Amino acid sequence: MLIAGNWKMYDGPDPVALREALHDALGEHEHVVAPPFTRLHECVRAGLTTFAQNVHWEPEGAYTGEVSARMLLERGVAGALVGHSERRQYFGETDTTVARRTHAALHAGLRVIACVGETGEERESGDTETVLRIQVEAIRDACGEHERLVLAYEPVWAIGTGKTATPELAGEAHAFVKSLLDVPVLYGGSVKPDNAAELLAQPDIDGALVGGASLDIDSFVAICRAARS
Ligand code: PEP
Repeated sequence: MLIAGNWKMYDGPDPVALREALHDALGEHEHVVAPPFTRLHECVRAGLTTFAQNVHWEPEGAYTGEVSARMLLERGVAGALVGHSERRQYFGETDTTVARRTHAALHAGLRVIACVGETGEERESGDTETVLRIQVEAIRDACGEHERLVLAYEPVWAIGTGKTATPELAGEAHAFVKSLLDVPVLYGGSVKPDNAAELLAQPDIDGALVGGASLDIDSFVAICRAARS
């Protein structure tokens, strides 16, 4: 079970305080944090398993605003999120760029959490499986069942909205995603301390990608504890 905190473009909590608070909350589960680029170093230094929120496919070059896998690895960063719906929605990330980023990061030695998920409109029009198939197959065709690859199923309509997928709905989507690419699949979308245990009890849910609730030490630790129970 893996619990990942996506701090988005927020400074987030104090990394040392978080590391201490997590110390006895973990059991056999792993946690990672994905802070903004400005806090990567501090999180690594505090002993947190640290992921970037994005990674480019070239090792270096004229790509203003981007960071490469090599640069991250050299600074002790363990992995990267790729294809988060906020990247797809606001920054033109496509299935092709998600596949390129994921492939290059894995090849360089990073771990990757690659995000997929349908919008509310796509779910309402009955297109959830078609959308998930296209997104997952783009990653699968580029990378296969790589040992450092994890997917996150994040229904876009549940991200930052307070609307959570029911455990059954999430469980069904996870089973479908795993039928396409058999790697661990995290659930993301308004995971909070009070809904985490029920979601994480689903057989095909292998952890959580937590946004808003990961900015608060107590709630992130409570979610980690829920995973343990
Ligand atoms: C996320 O940022 O990946 C996320 C799931 O956000 P939230 O938990 O706030 O919905």
